Amino acid sequence: MDCNVLVFNCGSSSIKFQLLKVDTEQVLAKGSVERVGSIDGTITFESAAGETTANEPVPDHAAGMTLIREAFKRGGFDLDNAGIVAIGHRVVHGGAAFSAPVLINDEALTAMRDVSVLAPLHNPANIIGIERASAAFPKLPQVAVFDTAFFQNLPAAASTYAVDRQLASDNGIRRYGFHGTSHQYVSGRVPLMLNRDPSELNQIVLHLGNGASVAAIRGGAPVETSMGMTPLEGLVMGTRSGDIDAGVIFHLHRVAGMSVDQIDTALNRKSGMVGLSGVNDFRDLHALVAGGDHDAQLALDVYIHRIKKYVGAYSAILGRLDAITFTAGIGENDSIVRSLALAGLEGFGIVIDSERNNAKTRGARVISADDSRVAVLVVPTNEELEIAQQTLDVVKKRM
Ligand code: ADP
Repeated sequence: MDCNVLVFNCGSSSIKFQLLKVDTEQVLAKGSVERVGSIDGTITFESAAGETTANEPVPDHAAGMTLIREAFKRGGFDLDNAGIVAIGHRVVHGGAAFSAPVLINDEALTAMRDVSVLAPLHNPANIIGIERASAAFPKLPQVAVFDTAFFQNLPAAASTYAVDRQLASDNGIRRYGFHGTSHQYVSGRVPLMLNRDPSELNQIVLHLGNGASVAAIRGGAPVETSMGMTPLEGLVMGTRSGDIDAGVIFHLHRVAGMSVDQIDTALNRKSGMVGLSGVNDFRDLHALVAGGDHDAQLALDVYIHRIKKYVGAYSAILGRLDAITFTAGIGENDSIVRSLALAGLEGFGIVIDSERNNAKTRGARVISADDSRVAVLVVPTNEELEIAQQTLDVVKKRM
């Protein structure tokens, strides 16, 4: 029996999808609908037969689902007979309610709506996606996989902010952590690659994409992560500031007269690499640095400094470090960032082999020197595969 899973990642204006054959980890087809809510939307569909892009009006997510069904049909897939056993949905925030993927039913949807207040820009779109997919594929079970779930059981010392306890519990204020699906997938691959017992491995995973986060994982269980109640905390990101003195927010409000929404936009969308250098793509950043641009150089210095600070802190939390792994767009592709981030850490037993680091290889690989006590790896993340696997696990329990 085929065990294929259709994975959806629904945003407010886009629907990304992948059809995966889970046992062989094969992507049978994938694509996206962009500009949902607009008359000039696009749908892209890619399979072994090639890639097509079409312009279509996409007034809402329901129309997007219809377009996806039609695109599969044109691509030679009859979704009712494609061996699909379930649909898996990426959901950004699971709050305190969800520490594991969940089969969608009315109760789960109500609990997810309650959590939406914690992620007002993301969860409502995720929920609309689930509702529209349920209508478009009524016979298939739907599973929600939460980006926060991996970190739900962080030690209390790591998840607790030192604010008034009542205030925190009344308002759900704690570290939730994000990118959990990626950290879970990548940290699960590392022991396989190193041929080590996962329960004995202490790891740091650096997910460096447009959003960026770092996690410390002891024996398979996360013990710290840099994103917090929201994805704003932690590392410097493409457009987010990462860690900042919360007092800056009061100052911007009281002295600069900015509204809460303006400050939110400034810190989430106009800060980070864009705020410091004007660009958030690291290929552009390196070109500016090579041309002698001082702002770009400072942005890179701040970015690297922050990563190094976290590597040191998380090494201390773990006590002993066995592996550091880079993943996501920058982590997988940018050898300059990798080498700068770990430069000078020989005293910590961390030594990168520059030839391995600079090799133009795409797959998962070890890039540390043979005499490095800590293994350094690059592991391409695969959130869709992790979602598909977790979805299948949930559905199998019912079979
Ligand atoms: P997200 O999923 O958070 O949108 P990704 O993980 O796809 O982000 O990472 C996107 C970022 O990866 C880009 O903004 C760019 O900075 C970086 N990136 C992608 N390819 C390269 C490359 N070849 N070299 C350096 N950076 C790259």
